[in-house]
Amino acid sequence: AVLVRRRRLGAQKLTDPASYLPRNTRCVCCASAMRSSTHMGLSSKKRVRRQCRLCGYNVCDGCSSKQEVQRNQGKGFDIVRICENCMERVDDAQYDTISPDNINIVEPTIEPDAPGADSATTVLARLLRDTLVNASEPELPAVKSVIMHIVDSDDVALSQTPTSERLTQPLRPRRLTVESSQEEYLLALQSQLQIPDRPLSSCLLAGANGRAYPLAYSDSNAGVPLFPLPDNELTRMGVVSRARLTEVRNLPELELICTLACRELRCATALVTLIGHDVQYVLATNNPAFRDAVGPRDQALCAHTIMGTLPMLVPHATADVRFSRSQLVLRGGLRFYFGFPLFAPDGVTAIGAVCCVDRVPRRVHQAQYETLEKLSQSATRIMASRITNDIELLD
Ligand SMILES: [Zn+2]
Ligand SMILES: [Zn+2]
Repeated sequence: AVLVRRRRLGAQKLTDPASYLPRNTRCVCCASAMRSSTHMGLSSKKRVRRQCRLCGYNVCDGCSSKQEVQRNQGKGFDIVRICENCMERVDDAQYDTISPDNINIVEPTIEPDAPGADSATTVLARLLRDTLVNASEPELPAVKSVIMHIVDSDDVALSQTPTSERLTQPLRPRRLTVESSQEEYLLALQSQLQIPDRPLSSCLLAGANGRAYPLAYSDSNAGVPLFPLPDNELTRMGVVSRARLTEVRNLPELELICTLACRELRCATALVTLIGHDVQYVLATNNPAFRDAVGPRDQALCAHTIMGTLPMLVPHATADVRFSRSQLVLRGGLRFYFGFPLFAPDGVTAIGAVCCVDRVPRRVHQAQYETLEKLSQSATRIMASRITNDIELLD
């Protein structure tokens, strides 16, 4: 039983005590007053205050217990304190997708590409070339626009390199426009698309050192945790409502980005989402079942992706207490999630996500990470250009 719990807890994303400090003075479970473990004297009849490492809140010693948590893909374990609320959810979650065969993907990990596998640059260039060559006349503007945004973002990177280095670059073809021919687009894909080589260790994931925010359960103690609140929520919602982002629906460019993401990640569904005040909007998707969907923010996995700037990988959604009771998981059958934040035009405020989901657990390799990162960056740029255009129209 200890081993089972150790493994179940190993599938959870614990809080990082260094980045989240709980402020509740009453026990998160029984609401009784607590004293610090070092403070004796008059209040010594009070229960001792501890911190639950799963939800992150202060809890009394009576409502919590020490538990073993599997770490390092099962090669070791830590001993941490977990509250009763959390333990109930851990025991209630489903672990059937974690078999001995895929034990190594219990913890979110980006895997190295197979030896000799194509680089992200090659993969993305091929995807875009195939899409361009096979596009019908009505599809062509969106395909060209996506290629422009992807190739353009490399221009930005180049213009930031020192002039001395830029001078040594070979002469480059002229900038793509909507008027450019198919040949010019193909040439640009061949010569201008460059995703730099990087070490696997730079493919970072959100919460590698633990979660930086608490999990709050509602009073009924049922259902998913309440959605986490980003520090910049006011700024964030300001951007969302000022730019009327919820009206940006089903842009052909964003739908194409979803199709490309699915093809590269070999997933069933990709989504571009926007997190509003209390709901999540699906702005674009390649899956008609999710088109124009608007769901409660509490249920949305992307509501956690916007808590930082790094991508979130959830290899086993049924096992993770953040999501195990979400209707998307319980009814929708969602098992796997990998999403990069979608940023506001300022480039730092996360407003939603570009994510891939599936009904089966999946491994993610470095080239797939880099491709989805690139696609999410172009989604951010496409949203930004859309916002600028709208503002110009208003003027
Ligand atoms: Zn208590
Ligand atoms: Zn807890």
